[in-house]
Amino acid sequence: MKRLFSAVQVKEEGALLKFFEESFNLKIINGLIEFKEKESPDNYLPFYMRGYSLPINKAFGGKVYSVCSKISEMLGYTEKEIEFYVSNEAEFNSSSILSSIRGKPHIVIINRGLIEKVSLAELEFIIGHEIGHLIFRHAYVTRVIQYVYPTYENLPPLLQKLYDVWSKLCEISADRVGLLACGDLETAVRGLFKLSSALDEKYFDLSLENMVRIADLTYTEMREHPSYVSATHPANPIRIKALMEFSRSTLWDGIVNGDKKAFPHDPLLEEKMNDILYLIKKAPFDEQEEVELMFLASAGMLLLSAQEEHKDDEYNYLINVLAQYVHWPPAYLDELNKNNIYEMMEKASATIMEFYPQRTRDLVKQLFPIIVRDRKLADAEVGVFLKISTEELKIPYSEIVDIFLQGIRELYQPFG
Ligand SMILES: [Zn+2]
Repeated sequence: MKRLFSAVQVKEEGALLKFFEESFNLKIINGLIEFKEKESPDNYLPFYMRGYSLPINKAFGGKVYSVCSKISEMLGYTEKEIEFYVSNEAEFNSSSILSSIRGKPHIVIINRGLIEKVSLAELEFIIGHEIGHLIFRHAYVTRVIQYVYPTYENLPPLLQKLYDVWSKLCEISADRVGLLACGDLETAVRGLFKLSSALDEKYFDLSLENMVRIADLTYTEMREHPSYVSATHPANPIRIKALMEFSRSTLWDGIVNGDKKAFPHDPLLEEKMNDILYLIKKAPFDEQEEVELMFLASAGMLLLSAQEEHKDDEYNYLINVLAQYVHWPPAYLDELNKNNIYEMMEKASATIMEFYPQRTRDLVKQLFPIIVRDRKLADAEVGVFLKISTEELKIPYSEIVDIFLQGIRELYQPFG
């Protein structure tokens, strides 16, 4: 089973998990959170759940119970390991809670609003999807990030972008387990359609052909206008497209028909996925973003190289600025031709002056914090900043002095 699931999981998830592990130390924080959970077992969630939600058990769970137990058994869980609940909420949603305490079950919650509108086959997909989150232990990341940054808006831009990308990959991985659970692409796609629209199918013709056509059309539009794509769950057409490609892959074929122990490496699927994931990842979506990224990256690197010490903080600040444009700025910075950085900055500045002169003040204001990030004011950095602002972006000297002095008052904290 373990090998099957690791074959099913979207590959890119691993790289991001590693990044979060390194930047947060997920292991330590998870361990400490778990310690406190074990210390006060009275706070254990099911006690609360039992009071406010309906447990789906053998006695009165009926067909829903049968589906839940069939799918959890199929995916390798016993009845003691996962408890299912229906919550009295109209929102079209389901969720899962990973238990970190030995002997305490994981929890899957299905909202009333959802259960009322899906067929039992679609419910298999949904249950499979939720169990997928448990199998891949996605909570190992979310729990820590939500603990350290309880307010999503306070996540630094770089982390926000990467967390968004990672969450979307998680949904795609979980969808694949959903497909495994229900065993039928049409059912899975209809489940996804209902999840996104919350509509009753009696009003619509949700044939596979129709659903695929709508998804394809929106997908093509998205490729042409990538700025559409945001929100935490990947836009539905992307999920449908990803699931379709998966169901057509040699890997899926191997899972359904082949040797249950060996799963083929599937480069074609990975190529298709790269194509689809392009829409999930952030990249500059027009020429203006492209040139602003080029300017901030090159001018930022010039400021960084003006001074030998205290580079870490300044570098981290710069990648957060660049995260507005690309989801993984370090790769972009690595690729900059180090010998041509000055030329690149000049070129970007010239384009900005020609087409987007209204952006110059905002751009230099974004660069300014690099200078004072290390609580020191280095002559060389100030020199580079003034030179770029006045000579390349043609901001009058008197005005840039105002911007500079204002920045000092707001952000400069020697010994602070
Ligand atoms: Zn999900």
